[in-house]
Amino acid sequence: MDVVRTVGDLRARIGDWRGHGHGVGLVPTMGALHEGHLSLVRQSLAETNRTCVTLFVNPRQFGPGEDLSTYPRDEASDMEKVSKLGAHLLFAPTAEEMYPPGAATRVSVPGLGDELEGTHRPDFFTGVATVVAKLLLQALPDAAFFGEKDYQQLLVIRRMTADLDIPVTIRSGPTVREADGLALSSRNAYLTPGERAIAPALHRALIQVAEEVRAGGDPAAACKEATGRILEAGFQKVDYVEARDAATFKPIADASNPSRVLAAAWLGRARLIDNLAI
Ligand code: AMP
Repeated sequence: MDVVRTVGDLRARIGDWRGHGHGVGLVPTMGALHEGHLSLVRQSLAETNRTCVTLFVNPRQFGPGEDLSTYPRDEASDMEKVSKLGAHLLFAPTAEEMYPPGAATRVSVPGLGDELEGTHRPDFFTGVATVVAKLLLQALPDAAFFGEKDYQQLLVIRRMTADLDIPVTIRSGPTVREADGLALSSRNAYLTPGERAIAPALHRALIQVAEEVRAGGDPAAACKEATGRILEAGFQKVDYVEARDAATFKPIADASNPSRVLAAAWLGRARLIDNLAI
């Protein structure tokens, strides 16, 4: 596996693949790779001829006071993991390569990007949409792979890609979980052993909402009960538990259309997010 750090080298390598008629898959990540990321790499390897993994802790998607400086980083181990799987290229640019002095353009997705996560992290989706737009335009892959773990992010990326006519197919992969249901996340590393034991309560609460709504229960009432159960389990704060239409992201009144229940809650230093199909 080759490692490139500049947009010029990335384009040269992918241009070479194109010259040989290869289909190209892109898997954007912020590193500290776990099985969730690796499942997307496997999906790309299965669906395309050449896979490029990107590793970039994007400063623009962290708000003031968030965990940019402490976000887990382990490039050597990440490199080994993706190389072992058979990925063909790792793109690991510096912040200066991605945002040279004077870089000013931002991509934002009003509406979808202002709700739930957007309410609690006002700069987050503009940071994500900007960096993903750049990565897609830099690499111009046939397909790019994103996790359902970050469901609202997936919808924002689909909207942005369609709105900007970026000729890349957005593919998604299911959430990979620990045996006790906790969704894998680089931020799980922040949990103390005691907090780690409490953490699966978030997933359990979502399962209960999904079951209640499927059985005809009121989504808003089910989400309110779930909030209580998450706090009772030992989480300090619940940012939201909400049931939304899986495509339009509008609040739902029942389970007649495909929908998701989504939540974010604080446990010690970690802000955990999760979601489930209803
Ligand atoms: P991140 O490095 O956290 O920005 O995540 C990079 C990609 O991996 C995103 O598309 C995430 O949605 C995806 N991802 C993160 N955690 C998981 C997980 N537990 N299961 C599946 N995909 C995940």
